[in-house]
Order: sequence, then C-alpha cells, then structure tokens
Amino acid sequence: MARRGDLFGLSAEAKARLLAQLSASGFPARPEPPVPERLDPAALDGAHDIDTVAAAAEHLGIADPFFRVHDGIAGAEVVIDDKRYSNFSSYDYLGLNGDPRVVAAAKAAIDRYGTTVSASRMVSGERPIHRELERALARIYQAEDAMALVGGHATNVSVIGALLGSGDVVAHDGFAHNSIIEGARLSGARRVAFAHNDAEAAGKMLGETRARRRLLVIEGHYSMDGDVPDLARFVAVARRHRAWLMVDDAHALGVLGARGLGSAEHAGIDPGEVDIWMGTLSKSLVSCGGYIAGRSGLIGRLKRLVPGFVFSAGMAPAAAAAALAAVEILAAEPERVARLRRNAALFLGSLRDGGLDTGTSIGAAIVSLMTGSSIRAGKLAAALFDRGINAPPILYPAVPERAARLRFFVTAAHREAQLREAARIVIEESRRIAAEPIDIAGLARSLGG
Ligand code: PMP
Repeated sequence: MARRGDLFGLSAEAKARLLAQLSASGFPARPEPPVPERLDPAALDGAHDIDTVAAAAEHLGIADPFFRVHDGIAGAEVVIDDKRYSNFSSYDYLGLNGDPRVVAAAKAAIDRYGTTVSASRMVSGERPIHRELERALARIYQAEDAMALVGGHATNVSVIGALLGSGDVVAHDGFAHNSIIEGARLSGARRVAFAHNDAEAAGKMLGETRARRRLLVIEGHYSMDGDVPDLARFVAVARRHRAWLMVDDAHALGVLGARGLGSAEHAGIDPGEVDIWMGTLSKSLVSCGGYIAGRSGLIGRLKRLVPGFVFSAGMAPAAAAAALAAVEILAAEPERVARLRRNAALFLGSLRDGGLDTGTSIGAAIVSLMTGSSIRAGKLAAALFDRGINAPPILYPAVPERAARLRFFVTAAHREAQLREAARIVIEESRRIAAEPIDIAGLARSLGG
C-alpha cells in the first residue's frame, strides 16, 4: 500500500528507480553538496535569511528586538531591564493574565492534581478539569463537544494532518497561519492557497479540484492584519463545493462579537454552520494550549486519531484551570470586550488621523502599521522602544519585504490616556523615520552584496 506523502504513491525504491531513469535519459542531475562531517547550523534551511537580517540590523545600529526578557506580568505595561514600557506585544486581549481569579484557579488545580497529569489523556492522564474546560469551550460554539490539546500550533498541525490524506485537497487563505500550512503539508493532501479573504477565489479553486475530500480553512480574525473574512460567504462556498469548513478563531475569541464569542457571533451566523472550530488558549484565555469544537462524533474520533493528542501528555492541570476561569470571566464580564473594542478603535483612529497606513485592520484589537520595508520597521520599533513603547516589528522573511510592519495588540487593560500618548509618539516617530533616507548601497556593501 502506498504510504502518505510518497511521490505519486510510489515506494521509496520505485521512486529512486524512476529518478535514476529520468537522469539517465538526459534529466540534469543536481550535484549533491558534500555531506559535512558534523552538523553545520549555518547550512540549515532559512539560516542564511536569519544571518542576513542580523547583519543588516547590526550595520544599521538596531538592537535585536527579539527574545527580550520581560519581567513580571506583561499587561498594558511591562518591565524590561528594569525600565517600564507601554506594552503592545501581548495577546492578552481581555487583560486577564494575573487576574486573581485566574491565578487562584490555577493554584487550586495544582493543589488538587499536581503540576502534571503524567500521561496521555487516553491512557491515564484524564482529569475532571479537562472535561470541565472542554464542556465550557463547546458551549461557546453551541457545539456538542470539544477537545483541548497542549499547544495551539500543535492543534492545527496534528488535527489537519489527521483529517486528510493524499488524494484530498486543503484550500486555505493565503494569509493563513503557519500551523495551518504545516498541518496541510503533513496530511499529504494537495494544498492550494487563495487570495486573502477572497471567498469567490476559494470557490473557484475548490470547483477546479476533483479531490475526494476538501477542507476549506480560514481564520476568524487575521493576526497580522487585524481584518476578518465574510464568514457567511465562506459558509456558502463550503456548502456549494461540499467542502468541510474549518475556522481558526485564535484571535477572534474574546475579541469579536458583542459577548466576545468569536467570528460566528460577529458574522451573525449559527456556529453549527462551521464543521470544525479551532482556537487557542494562549490569547484571550491567558493559558497555553489549543482546542477543537464540533459534533461529538467528530471529537470522539479525533481523540483517538490525532497523534498530537493520543501520543502527547494531557494538558497540565494549571493550564486547563486558568483557561476555564478565563472562559467564565468572559461570560460574566462582557464589558471587557466592549472596552477592548473602544480601545482598539481609538488607537486605530488616532493612527489613521495622523496619516499613517494601517492596512486593512478593522480595529477590533490588532492594529498593523505598514512601513513598506523591514529597515524602516526595525528603525521605527527601535525608536519607539527608546521612547518607552514596546511594539516589536514584523520583518522579512516573516512577511514579504513590502509588507514589513509594526503590529500593535491593543487590550482591554490599556488606559485611554496611555493609548492617546502612544499614538502621538508613534505618529511623530513614523514621520521622522519615513523622511530619513536609507543608505541601501552602504548596507549592500556591508553585507557583501
Ligand atoms: N492559529 C493562529 C491564527 C495563531 O495566530 C497562532 C499563534 N499565535 C496559533 C494558531 C498557534 O497558537 P499558539 O500560539 O497558542 O500555539
């Protein structure tokens, strides 16, 4: 039987024979680089890009903005190297990290169950707190059931990897998160990307495939751009082409909809229209992990099929309890969602009024500031940091060079005066940096280009 991912379903031996035949018949054989004796880290895929960006930053005198050590709780403000900053780099949309109720729930779970469950849920790692959390997550989507996994990224990789196989197709938004793409690749299905938020393009691609099973994957709120899909149109496209619809609501839960219930509430659709809801516990729910919500027949089977669940130790009790407490607070305090909405609209409006390019952000929580180049993004982030604002840049190769930007996560915990002051500084520094010439020739010389 052909294994998943094999070229045209051929075995490794048959594939080697085919390639040998092709090269014998004039197919140019690529010279194999010599095998180094020991691991050469500089030869890793992507290492060259990383080294180039680091060299460019050094040439421009920009300190590395990554892996900075944050002290204490990173909320609307954060302490880095003993200095206090206005913080726009945390996913804590509702300002719940460190909330005494969340902290108490996590501590109580440790007292009761310890710090680990010491086994896969399936074998002997199941604890009441896991099911309590899953039932609460299912309720958000009016779904029959849900499953919680230890990582959000791992959830997409492992679940999409298990849903499909060769002969199937995954159509995903061109701006989909890396975890969706990795899951699609793992599955062995054919992967097609359609233009961002373009439901018609998705339909066209699905219409052109003859796949046995089709999965259409979108996000509820895009984390790089802060924009949202027209969910009702994607539902219609999925139905028309008999595709399963999966929505990654990682940045939508707690953010979109009057009660923060996510993209279905925002779009005014019945959540049951979506076959597979996916989300993470690491954003509004101030914990760590991922989840899937859907019909109980799906969840029950995925719990016995998905390698990242079956062969992975169950979620730590404190992580499950923290997320559950956050879900309960979300239900009890919808005013947090309203405050987040007001804050994000204020910050977005201020940057726009200042003439800055905020791309397609709808101002629900994520505000991107397009700089047009990685160098300008790096310089702007460094200048803001010097003035007490922490908003790391998004640089090539994380995004295409033209799409380099700064990204601001606004939360319910920001104060109005803080947002106005931050916007004033951002506008001032953006104008200054946009007017500065960039010595590309000097940079190229220093990089040896
Ligand atoms: N999906 C989306 C859309 C994300 O933005 C992220 C990460 N930020 C993930 C999945 C992975 O989640 P986690 O960080 O909780 O692993």
